[in-house]
Amino acid sequence: MGTRGCLSCTERCIRTVVLKFFLYSLTYTSMAMYAFHQAAVAGGTTMILDFVIPQNGKSLLEAYDRWRKTADSKVCCDYSLHVAVTWWSDKVKEEMETLTKEKGINSFKMFMAYKDVFMLQDDQLYAAFAQCKEVGAIAQVHAENGDLIAEKMLSMGITGPEGHELCRPEEVEAEATQRAITIAHAVNCPLYVVHVMSKSAAKVVSDARRDGRVVFGEPIAAGLGTDGTHYWNKDWAHAAAFVMGPPLRPDPSTPGYLMDLLANDDLSVTGTDNCTFSVCQKAVVNGVEDRMSVIWEKGVVCPDNIPELYLTLINKDKIFNFYPQKGRIAKNSDADVVIWDPKMTRKISAKTHHQAVDYNIFEGMECHGVPVITISRGKVVYEDGQLNVSPGHGRFIHRKPFSEFVYKRIKQRDQVSKEPPVPFPCLTKIQNFSKKIPQISENLQNLQEENSNNSLKVSLKSFILKKSPNLARKFF
Ligand SMILES: [Zn+2]
Repeated sequence: MGTRGCLSCTERCIRTVVLKFFLYSLTYTSMAMYAFHQAAVAGGTTMILDFVIPQNGKSLLEAYDRWRKTADSKVCCDYSLHVAVTWWSDKVKEEMETLTKEKGINSFKMFMAYKDVFMLQDDQLYAAFAQCKEVGAIAQVHAENGDLIAEKMLSMGITGPEGHELCRPEEVEAEATQRAITIAHAVNCPLYVVHVMSKSAAKVVSDARRDGRVVFGEPIAAGLGTDGTHYWNKDWAHAAAFVMGPPLRPDPSTPGYLMDLLANDDLSVTGTDNCTFSVCQKAVVNGVEDRMSVIWEKGVVCPDNIPELYLTLINKDKIFNFYPQKGRIAKNSDADVVIWDPKMTRKISAKTHHQAVDYNIFEGMECHGVPVITISRGKVVYEDGQLNVSPGHGRFIHRKPFSEFVYKRIKQRDQVSKEPPVPFPCLTKIQNFSKKIPQISENLQNLQEENSNNSLKVSLKSFILKKSPNLARKFF
C-alpha cells in the first residue's frame, strides 16, 4: 500500500538516501501516521511509543507540540512519545525538565551516529545523561560510532546497499554500546540501548547487566526475523529495502543469538524502532504490524519460551512507566487486549499488509500465531482481518518520571555511594614507613589532605610497591 516515498532506484548513494530519510522523518504526513496506527492494531499492538526528533538547533518543546497537534486527532490506538536530544545547550537541558514535569515524557533518545546531523559528542552525552538522571528519565541511545562511520564512508566511496553494512561493521556498534554504558554508569543513569542489531553489541549489554549495570537492550523485529545477507541481493531495490542503522548483520546466526538473549532476559524488550518515521529504521523498514507474529514464529514456536517472551512485553511497560495502566487485565487498567490464535498461520506480504509502504522485509515468511481480535480501551478495533478504527480514538499517555522498575536500583546505588569510604587499613604503617623514603613523605602529605580519596590511596600503594618492593611486602 502507498508509495515508498523518498526511496528511488536512481538514488545510488546511501548517504543521500539516509539524509532523505531524515527529511522524510521530519515531514511525515498525518495520513502516514494513521496508516501506521492501523498497521499496529492489525498486528496486535495496542500502544505505540513513537519518536519526536527535533532538528539540530531547534526547540524540543516546539517539536513535541507539533507532533501532538498532528497525532492527537489521527491516532487510532493509544500512544506516547520519546523525544530525541539532537544537540546540546542550556535551553535543551531546561526543555528536558519541562517535558518530563509537564508533558508526560520520561525517555530521551541520544544519537552517537549521524554526524553533523543528530550526533552528540561524549561530553554532550554525559551532560544529557546527567540531566536524564536529574529529572528521572531513561536515557536511550542509538549506539554506533558516528565519527568512524563518516570516515569509512568517505574512504570507501560507498555506493550500494552492501557498503552500508561494510562501513558500519559490528564493532562500530559494540564500541559505541560499551561507551554509552560507561558514560551512563559514570552518572548513574539508567540506559536503554535501542535496536541492538549485532551479536557483539548484545554481548556488551548482556555482560554489563551481569555486572549489575542498569541497562536494557532492545532487539527489533527486523533483527530477530531476518539478516543482512540481503544487502548482497542482485536486485538493488530489494537490497536497499533492508538498509537501516545499525544495519542487519550478514552472519545468519545473529537472529537466533538475539532471540536466545531475549529469552534469558540478557536483552529486555522487543520493539520495531521502525516507527515508520524513525530516522534509524526509516520508512521502508516495516515492523510494527509483523512484530508480534515474527517474534512468535522465531521465539515461541518453542512453547517453553512463552513466559519469558510475555515478560519482555511487560518489561517495556514497566521501564517506561505505564504499567499497570497497560500490560495488565485488571480493574482500573485500560482494557487493551489481543486475542491471539497460536495455531493460525499467515503469510506476510506487502500485498496484504496495512503499512503505508510497498515493500515488506518479511515478504513470504509463513508465521504461526495471528492476532484475531485487538481491543483498544474496550473497543474492538480489529477483528478477523477487518479494521474498525477511527482517527482520534487513541489517546496520548502521560508517563511519569522515576519509573520504580528502573530507578529503584539507581537510588540504591546513590545511597551506597554516599556512605563513608572504607578506612585505609595500612595508613598508620605507611606513616611510619614513609619516614624512610622522601617521595613517600611527599605523597603522604597529599594523602592526609585528601583522606577520602581512595584513588590516591591506591596509587600510593602501587607507588610504594614499585619503589621498594622488599620493604612494602611487610605492609601489604
Ligand atoms: Zn536509532
